[in-house]
Amino acid sequence: MILKDKVALVTGSTSGIGLAVARALASEGARIMLHGFGDRDANLALKEEMAALSGDLASYSDADLSSPDAIDALVAQCTDELGSPSILVNNAGVQHVAPVESFPTDKWDWIMAVNLSAVFHTTRLCLPSMRQRGWGRIINTASAHSIVASPNKAPYVAAKHGVAGFTKAVALEAARDGITVNCISPGYVWTPLVENQIPDTMKARGLTREQVMNDVLLAAQPTKRFVEPVEVAALALFLCRPESGSITGANLSMDGGWTAQ
Ligand code: NAD
Repeated sequence: MILKDKVALVTGSTSGIGLAVARALASEGARIMLHGFGDRDANLALKEEMAALSGDLASYSDADLSSPDAIDALVAQCTDELGSPSILVNNAGVQHVAPVESFPTDKWDWIMAVNLSAVFHTTRLCLPSMRQRGWGRIINTASAHSIVASPNKAPYVAAKHGVAGFTKAVALEAARDGITVNCISPGYVWTPLVENQIPDTMKARGLTREQVMNDVLLAAQPTKRFVEPVEVAALALFLCRPESGSITGANLSMDGGWTAQ
């Protein structure tokens, strides 16, 4: 178990990609700070699953990442209950699809807060103890939308480009301290986040469900299949391995060839 005695805070790990990442890190012995919304009993059961996988402690928080105070409390809870995180996976994200001129301004603020500002807050709170320890891994789930754009997703695209830039800057600041900072940029992964945007995309573009799936989503992906959450998790786990120590400031695509076009 390569991550024994390491504490991993994985935001948005009650669902989708984050849950797969948490499972992968727990399977290598990491203490998992599970985090995210959803049914509390189901999430407490997931926390128990993490403890069983790692054979160590696990904890759970439903802190709202749109609130900097709640993020403070999340990192404090993790530190109190498990120890200070040496692996931080900034994974939680939200989406709303609409043309820019009719994009609700509160939804702009929400997407920026959860997808971008929260990454700043968790990072600034977790870096000092990583520096002290001389080892740390920060892995940000960005997106193919950190590299290219799609219509009707201006705030998401702006936030994800921001995550990619933030990743590079922090990687440079932490480069001499045994800390790597990278983002993983998946293409379309079949999770609730993608499933939930289908109705809005149908409305925005006047398309059927099948047209959205085949002509909008998978149209971008030469492999013509959705990325699997476990594939993203395997890359996140690799970034925690000792052999990955020279990978920093990178934006690692896992998008079935989307951004190669
Ligand atoms: P998901 O909807 O399955 O999971 C999102 C997680 O974030 C959940 O645990 C949810 O509870 C949590 N969350 C959302 N808002 C929150 C808030 N305000 N406070 C606390 N927790 C919150 O989504 P997913 O598809 O697994 O996405 C995970 C990440 O991957 C996101 O950053 C997303 O932008 C990115 N991503 C997803 C895809 C895709 O196709 N699914 C592609 C590229 C990038």
